[in-house]
Amino acid sequence: MSAARKLPTELDVVVVGAGFSGLYMLYKLRRLNMTVKVVEAGSDIGGTWFWNRYPGARCDVESMHYSYSFDPELEQEWEWTEKYPSQPEILSYIHHVADRHDLRRDVVLDTTVTSAHYDDDSATWTVTTDDGEQVRARYCIMAVGCLSVPKKPEVPGLERFRGDWYHTCDWPESGVDFTGQRVAVIGTGSSGIQAIPIIAKQAAELTVFQRTPNFSLPTFNGPIDQDLVADIKSRYREIREESRRSGFGVAIEPPTRSALEVDPEERLRSYEERWQRGNLTGVLQAYTDLLADERANDTAAEFVRGKIREIVDDPETAEKLCPKGYAFGTKRPCLDTGYYETFNNDHVQLVDLRETPLVEITERGVRTSAGEYEVDSLVLATGFDAMTGALLNIDIRGRQGRTLKDKWSDGPALYLGLNAAGFPNMFTITGPGSPSVLSNMIVSIEQHVEWLSDLLEYMRRNELRVVEATETAEKEWTDHVREVGDMTLYPKTDSWYMGANVPGKPRLLMAYLGGVGPYWEKCQQVAADGYEGFALQ
Ligand code: FAD
Repeated sequence: MSAARKLPTELDVVVVGAGFSGLYMLYKLRRLNMTVKVVEAGSDIGGTWFWNRYPGARCDVESMHYSYSFDPELEQEWEWTEKYPSQPEILSYIHHVADRHDLRRDVVLDTTVTSAHYDDDSATWTVTTDDGEQVRARYCIMAVGCLSVPKKPEVPGLERFRGDWYHTCDWPESGVDFTGQRVAVIGTGSSGIQAIPIIAKQAAELTVFQRTPNFSLPTFNGPIDQDLVADIKSRYREIREESRRSGFGVAIEPPTRSALEVDPEERLRSYEERWQRGNLTGVLQAYTDLLADERANDTAAEFVRGKIREIVDDPETAEKLCPKGYAFGTKRPCLDTGYYETFNNDHVQLVDLRETPLVEITERGVRTSAGEYEVDSLVLATGFDAMTGALLNIDIRGRQGRTLKDKWSDGPALYLGLNAAGFPNMFTITGPGSPSVLSNMIVSIEQHVEWLSDLLEYMRRNELRVVEATETAEKEWTDHVREVGDMTLYPKTDSWYMGANVPGKPRLLMAYLGGVGPYWEKCQQVAADGYEGFALQ
């Protein structure tokens, strides 16, 4: 007897991915009385916060701002415990929301979507899963995440390693105890920088392999300030609105002056005061031109380098940890708790892979051009195939069987980061061409989900069944995204924002830098103008 099907054969909407995006999409579609299922590869809901359980995993946006705004009672009732929420706390928040709104019954877990093919005649998508099940749906919404596909390590030999190895984004649920072990961490991006201080506390010896040093600022994390909580809760609606209209999805005072028009002492005072705030936007938002002018940027970069030199005792190690040759902020800056201080421990050493490149993983450890480092455990903090990885993992075929891979061979193109011409009725949440990873992502997720649910309601009300970006609108928007990016320093840096961390990936700035607020206004205007730039039938 064959096993019972997990999915019905027909639905109004298939949503792929059960993180913040997919779950909120489900909530909204239910309210439109649409039949919908969310298909999730993982064994539980939560997306990023389900997979990334590495020690120290934490959000870089403050708790009071990294949360859904759609349920005003929830935001009043929920109590965050720390200034920055840890992964377990965010995951329990997601579980709470799912239970509160009874979302789980429409989520199908342990199931990977392998293909989605559009049929021109019926104007439906046929979605196939790794169980071989197929479901036909009018709409397909890709809530697959921007940072959900781990980047494979570029170094051979991992299969030979006889110790245990872990990728930060697929960490064992039971945790790992490194007590007494010799541990290697490869990678010093956000995940590495968060995990290293904690692993160092357990390990007997820790070797950190660094290719590119990152700029990192202290969180000054701790128990959440209850006065601040009371203040925010008393005017949450207003703050949420400000966040939506802001540059990066967090309500902050925008800068008004150039870094080059203030005298060096005042500038230093301003950076110091902002450093002490312990957040990502403080120093970076001190002046108008920090992300647009190299000389301005260098004043902030040099300030951070000065801090690193102050914190790290050994001048040679400090110099290796100092990011140089790219502008501060153009690679995802990190927030840490004791990262640079960790290198003052005798049992922690830093290996600079630009001096001595990684050669291979051996049976016993890691070999660089300088020799072999024997370790018991290996931690890969090597990042993600960002923004397009999860979409291109799926065999997506639009009109006339054209694949998304083929369409995007020179880089992703989507109108408003939402829909690709030739792929009707398929949408991405926080896709390339939207503010996405260059924003507080929950704000961007909510905006996309709400806009899409308005669109689907509009389609139903007007008895329409096909919506698709026009080639012209898609091209104009994609050109605009590039032009705005070119006004900044981002394209000059090899970063995952640019696809530069994955060999062979087209090099272009994938997120939209025009600001969360202006982007939101543009989307509202498009809707108000009868979904201008989309062909509807
Ligand atoms: P995800 O949470 O990535 O969920 C996507 C889901 O889709 C995953 O569960 C995945 O398994 C599933 N999926 C993908 N492909 C398939 C398929 N083919 N079939 C079935 N299921 C599939 N954002 C911030 O704003 N601030 C931060 O400080 C911040 N810190 C972060 C730290 C880390 C370590 C990481 C990895 C990300 C961080 N992010 C941060 C970004 C974070 O991803 C978003 O904030 C948010 O959680 C994204 O939610 P999502 O639902 O869009 O995607």
